[in-house]
Amino acid sequence: MTQEELDKLHVCVDRRVVPVGQAERMALVKDCRWTDDSLSIRFLDGDPGLQERVKKVARIWTEFANIKFLFGNDPEAQIRISFKERGSWSYVGTQCLGIAKHAPTMNFGWLTPATGDEEVMRVVLHEFGHALGCIHEHQNPAGGIQWNKEAVYAYYSGHPNYWSRKDVDTNLFQLYDKDLTAHTQLDPHSIMLYPVPAAFTLDGKAIGGSNKVLSDMDKEFIGKLYP
Ligand SMILES: [Zn+2]
Repeated sequence: MTQEELDKLHVCVDRRVVPVGQAERMALVKDCRWTDDSLSIRFLDGDPGLQERVKKVARIWTEFANIKFLFGNDPEAQIRISFKERGSWSYVGTQCLGIAKHAPTMNFGWLTPATGDEEVMRVVLHEFGHALGCIHEHQNPAGGIQWNKEAVYAYYSGHPNYWSRKDVDTNLFQLYDKDLTAHTQLDPHSIMLYPVPAAFTLDGKAIGGSNKVLSDMDKEFIGKLYP
């Protein structure tokens, strides 16, 4: 990872309706898979050209998951996308059903028509991973990242994230319960992994770089989740 990339490490927050307490978090992860054959998806705003690019990238997931994405103007759309709020984020899987119908369930805060294809690919695949029910790979219960916690707190307290220590705990350090996820080991190539530069680890190991495409394990996992 270059210094320039590190200076603007844009990461995502996976949103949950009830983000407090480990017990609730576990239940959410367990129940967040969609049982529908298709999901209807609506853009609430945004540049039409950029919307087309988002659609094209999002559909890559459906090559490996047995679920269809129906983009349109359905007022009952399960997934609603905005570009207007701060940051990039998505609610996880069926958590989207708990959100008011006028409000977005997914946001792409830093994507504009000028954004390059690689960044659109990275961010859109990641957020649609959440929308399908995937959690962050660095919170894989298998663990394995030797975090230099103070360095990570210091980094994320600054631009562009401005996170509190609690935000960092929630978004990076807290692991999910092992009984509720299908992974058995950390996948350093997952699209759901935050970039982990060497400065963030005690053993000086960088993990993942900036993953921009679905890994083999991502494809296998989503195929199992939506067979
Ligand atoms: Zn995320």
